[in-house]
Amino acid sequence: MAKHHFQTEVNRLLDILIYSLYSHREIFLRELVSNASDALDKLKILTLTDDAYKGLDFAPRIDISFDKDKALLTVSDTGIGMNDEDLVEHLGTIAKSGTREFLSRLSGDEKKDSELIGQFGVGFYSAFMVADRVEVISKKAGEEQAWRWVSDGKGEYEIDKAKREGHGTSIVLHLKEDAKEFASEWRIREIVKRYSNHIAFPIYLSYEDDKGNKKEEQVNSAQALWRRSKSELEHKDYVEFYKNISGDDEEPLFYLHIKAEGTMEYSSLLFVPRRAPFDMFSADYRPGIRLYVKRVFITEDDKELLPQYLRFLRGIIDSEDLPLNVSREMLQEHRILANIRNATVKRFLQECQRVAKEEPEKYLEFIRQYNKPLKEGLYSDFAHKDLLVDLVRFKSTSAAGYTSLAEYVERINNKEQKAIYYISGGDEAVLRNAPVLEAYKKKNVEVLIMDDEIDELIVPLIGKYKDYELKAVNTSKAEDEFINDEEKKKKAEEGKTVAEKIKKILGDEVKDVIASVRLEDSPACIVLDEFTPSLKMQELLKAMGQ
Ligand code: ADP
Ligand code: MG
Repeated sequence: MAKHHFQTEVNRLLDILIYSLYSHREIFLRELVSNASDALDKLKILTLTDDAYKGLDFAPRIDISFDKDKALLTVSDTGIGMNDEDLVEHLGTIAKSGTREFLSRLSGDEKKDSELIGQFGVGFYSAFMVADRVEVISKKAGEEQAWRWVSDGKGEYEIDKAKREGHGTSIVLHLKEDAKEFASEWRIREIVKRYSNHIAFPIYLSYEDDKGNKKEEQVNSAQALWRRSKSELEHKDYVEFYKNISGDDEEPLFYLHIKAEGTMEYSSLLFVPRRAPFDMFSADYRPGIRLYVKRVFITEDDKELLPQYLRFLRGIIDSEDLPLNVSREMLQEHRILANIRNATVKRFLQECQRVAKEEPEKYLEFIRQYNKPLKEGLYSDFAHKDLLVDLVRFKSTSAAGYTSLAEYVERINNKEQKAIYYISGGDEAVLRNAPVLEAYKKKNVEVLIMDDEIDELIVPLIGKYKDYELKAVNTSKAEDEFINDEEKKKKAEEGKTVAEKIKKILGDEVKDVIASVRLEDSPACIVLDEFTPSLKMQELLKAMGQ
């Protein structure tokens, strides 16, 4: 018998799961079933592509059984299994960055922390929310020896040789006194239906009926949801599926189900989470799209399945045309996949457009979460520029909240205005109070408030929108706008001597001092030379190593 210590972080996590969290406990079953399903996926692809596994006896299934009197609950699968090394590696440490993030976000407030568990899904360890002792009996496919891992979640676990018929894993939970409710036919049925109905493998429940006869029944639908026709599916089917693959407790903001037939045959199912994933702006974010080929799971950590700026999406892509044994390295270059990706992106952006038009409130929520990534798209996805230009939103001096460029143009009320004006290079409050805006306000000309760092990168890329050039008001060149020559000449003459005096005093600290014609109430303002990048932009470029 070999004793092992959990990694420090695991201990922290276990302490919280065991002692502090009492709501939301039922998700432990979703996590165990999802692990079983992953293990079946892993073995399935091997039996299809690897000669060493082709002869293997493989009947993929998940079994749940319980013993009310002994307070036991068991989840078994016929998947890939784990040997002793795997057990140490996978059930003794925390490999997932998501779980680390979870730990760092804990607030001590039980309700909030429970919600976090829903959002992050802490995986296998969630078993300790309901069990004071967990046994894992596993045999790796292709190996002879089976192993048993046992722990009470208090610092240590043991690994031992064991016996098991076929390959796969059984997780045996010794339920806590206050968690015996989970050793119940109806409770298990209910939880499986809620969280795991669309797991692609059959889940069987063993139980005794009223007369004491042993029964076994499949309790999930085990269908690849995305292959079914849209007319058969209800909103709640999509929601349940989403919760299942994302671990999110909230309903998605909206979703899109694509079934393409003809030259390219594929299905995509895309979900927009109501709240942006916590790792959206970190470089090692976890991608949210799973790739299937003919309903066989291939990979879920390929960052290229969709363009990076759509990294907040969750869902699946299933191709009928890719070969099953497509290697991960080859995926990137695969023409078929590139076509699917392109078509899927286009359809998704069109769906966003539809939401913007038909469900403006929902779109506002979408923008609050994802305006930035969409702007990144303008920067990186030239092929869809036209769609993206209409999807991004900006703050403005005239409209509350956000406005589109199209709305701005609609609001233009004088024929002389030939440009879309914007101010950039600071945060919102600073920009809104900038003295240069005075003249525009007086003339009733709307100015976009571009307080996002990325705005300055994308403005030059937009260039023109419907014949209206985008023009910054805080550059020296913008002086020329809106002022008729006579007025300007007069004002400039008046201010000239003063400006020269000031310039003499400031010397090299400024590039120039000119008499402004745009100010109404303020005595002076600082503007940028037309060709000088703004201060914020200079910082951004520096940060990017330019
Ligand atoms: P995740 O599933 O996100 O990787 P978990 O904490 O749920 O995180 O599981 C940790 C790891 O333990 C899995 O990645 C897998 O390698 C292993 N594991 C868990 N359950 C099983 C199982 N039933 N069969 C095979 N491996 C498993
Ligand atoms: Mg898991």
